[in-house]
Amino acid sequence: MDPITALLDDLLAEVRPLTSGAPATYIPELATADPDRLAFAVVGPRGRVRDVGDTDHEFTIQSISKPFVLALALSERGRDAVLAKVGAEPSGEPFNAISLEKHTGRPANPMVNAGAIATTALVEGAGIDDRMTRIVETLSAFAGRSLWVDEDVYASESATGDRNRALAHLLRSHGVIEGSVDIAVETYFRQCSLLVTVRDLAVMASTLAFGGVNPVTGHRVVAETVARDVLSIMASCGMYDFSGEWLLRVGLPAKSGVSGGLLAVAPSQFGVAAFSPRLDAHGNSVRGIAAVETLSERFGMHLLEPH
Ligand code: GLN
Repeated sequence: MDPITALLDDLLAEVRPLTSGAPATYIPELATADPDRLAFAVVGPRGRVRDVGDTDHEFTIQSISKPFVLALALSERGRDAVLAKVGAEPSGEPFNAISLEKHTGRPANPMVNAGAIATTALVEGAGIDDRMTRIVETLSAFAGRSLWVDEDVYASESATGDRNRALAHLLRSHGVIEGSVDIAVETYFRQCSLLVTVRDLAVMASTLAFGGVNPVTGHRVVAETVARDVLSIMASCGMYDFSGEWLLRVGLPAKSGVSGGLLAVAPSQFGVAAFSPRLDAHGNSVRGIAAVETLSERFGMHLLEPH
């Protein structure tokens, strides 16, 4: 085992005993997750992937799709058009809050559900299939392999997605969503149901770390300015109502999802990802947070400390 993989293996052993929290249950299909699964991956500048634990296990991407669909909307529409519909301010509220900016009716940011549904509504395309084709192409380019939807998780989320549907109707009443609410919300459910491994997430993170170029495939996925914008929003809003404390403790742009995935970006250095389905009260992976925090502390990766 090479020294970096050995180090990651030690990191997993350190966080494995943490058994607080529980898998999400509000999407019934997510409640069936094995809570003991644990995986970690790192991708460096030359595209070398190092991964440990349940590295081949697939899970749905959930909210970690949000920064990458934001990247697509920014590429297609430009920053001003996106900011006209969704803000860039930390909300300080849970990810599923029914809450919009008072004077504009915009969602606070694209990392909470309201903002992500608004962002998905900005993706070009006539219907769900058209938009999903663009979303799947983009996320697959970030991951460096073809991704597909878990139809059972999609059906489960769509069947129980009343809160997100209510948010989408509210957005339409404010003119944030201009087209069909159903297309926006079902596309959003499908993007959240894309299957990934921890390795895919680390490659996706590394593509943001290297200015929009996937270091494994060598392909440019988005412009450098788009990658920078996405990382800026992840830094202030990526961990929901834990984003401020996360920046304080870990100092890296990051994004979590309710199936237990978590990715973080050390710009120009590497992308990292963790998977462990037990979540804390904010909906963030308990062991994922511990693993990335430990790595950041041990290697002095906090972006705001002198390097
Ligand atoms: N699909 C999930 C939802 O809309 C995503 C939320 C999350 O991962 N925090 O509720």
